[in-house]
Amino acid sequence: MSNNDPSFLRSVEISFEKAASLLDLPPGLEEKIRVCNSTYTVRFGVRLGNRIETFTGYRSVHSEHMEPVKGGIRYSPHVNQDEVEALASLMTYKCAMVEVPYGGSKGGLCIDPKAYTTEELERITRRFAYELIKRDLINPSQNVPAPDMGTSQREMAWIADQYSRMNTTDINARACVTGKPLNAGGIAGRLEATGRGVQYALQEFFRHPGDVKRARLSGSLRGKKAILQGLGNVGYHAGLFLSTEDEVSIIGLIERDGGIYNEEGLDIEDVFQHIQTTGGVKNYPKAKFIENGYTLLEEECDILIPAAIERVITSENANRIKANLIIEAANGPITAPADDILIEKGIVVIPDMYANAGGVIVSYFEWVKNLSHIRFGRMQRRQEEYRSRLLVEELNDMFQNTTLNVKFSEKFIDHFLQGAGEMELVRSGLDDSMRLGYQAISEIWNSRNDVADLRTAAYLVAIERVAASYASKGL
Ligand code: GLU
Repeated sequence: MSNNDPSFLRSVEISFEKAASLLDLPPGLEEKIRVCNSTYTVRFGVRLGNRIETFTGYRSVHSEHMEPVKGGIRYSPHVNQDEVEALASLMTYKCAMVEVPYGGSKGGLCIDPKAYTTEELERITRRFAYELIKRDLINPSQNVPAPDMGTSQREMAWIADQYSRMNTTDINARACVTGKPLNAGGIAGRLEATGRGVQYALQEFFRHPGDVKRARLSGSLRGKKAILQGLGNVGYHAGLFLSTEDEVSIIGLIERDGGIYNEEGLDIEDVFQHIQTTGGVKNYPKAKFIENGYTLLEEECDILIPAAIERVITSENANRIKANLIIEAANGPITAPADDILIEKGIVVIPDMYANAGGVIVSYFEWVKNLSHIRFGRMQRRQEEYRSRLLVEELNDMFQNTTLNVKFSEKFIDHFLQGAGEMELVRSGLDDSMRLGYQAISEIWNSRNDVADLRTAAYLVAIERVAASYASKGL
């Protein structure tokens, strides 16, 4: 959607400046935090068949107030320096927001991954990784990438392997990248993490009745009607969990080739399978097809979930948005001028830097797992089960010796005895981080008259934390 609104990076800076003006930062610190520390551009050639193709890639480091710096690598033909720097900046604030001890970074490769074979992509990825590794722009203690749009576990496995080949004695080599497959040092729950985090964010929002009221909604998450943009990794998991576990009705879906709408709610898994086999949502039999899918952004619903790309809600269409609540599952879907219009209209926005932080939160768990060389739960799971069993058996014996005719049900015993494995622990850590994150921003939103929106509140939390860490470094 082309529009005259500021660029993605400028939009991030405008939101930052709005929040920073409410803080009493030492002179010069505001600029120090706002700007990207460095952006490395690399152009490299890869032989593909009988031709050599030149690719352009970036790795931007926004802030090194904590190291390593962290952030995904995106593969898209639209990747450019402005976008990579905006995303790197967001990573700094995102990590600070959810108390993940990293600075912000982001990478990108200008490429249409669909135009290459798997073998070609592996060669291109290894070559790009080589260029970054030799400059310590991929390194377990300095800069740790992860998947983003256009990349997945597969690319992360190639990057991890490339790093190990170049650092044969580094015992922590696997911690050089996160989002790896389980068999290559990944962690349970990383694939679903960003979508799961969106679900936890919405659950937490609905635990705050005052906030729900500010969005002109009432009741719980159950039964709410939502429209989703994008059925990629984030949108698919968010949509799936919200519809199957929270009874949210996903009435509309916007994809690359158009939109589909069904007032009764879509079966997300079914739509996903349709896209896998046909390449798009067109011809999906159980919903109405809408050629210009973008118009669905403006349809009536309780919750709008942009989970695709940046700059989809701009000053051009913001006025026509009818949702009560928008949760930014993607990075930067709302431009700064559109944000002002939405605030004016009383539409509540749960901002990207908090809403989609689930990915980096679980990346953090994966990195810690790699550095500790042991799966979470491995030592304590059976011990927990043993102690629970002791308790249940003892209580059951006690019940038998009384006149009370009571006993624990088999179902309860089964659940109660189950010690937490890695997946349960990861979800618990993610849920906790998302709850605490929301509580921090909600508190500011509700207690300060000069803070009209959750985004400004989130920036305030993040900037104060980054500033405090600079202060303790003597800056
Ligand atoms: N690319 C994801 C994001 O934008 C994940 C980053 C990470 O796990 O480091 O947050």
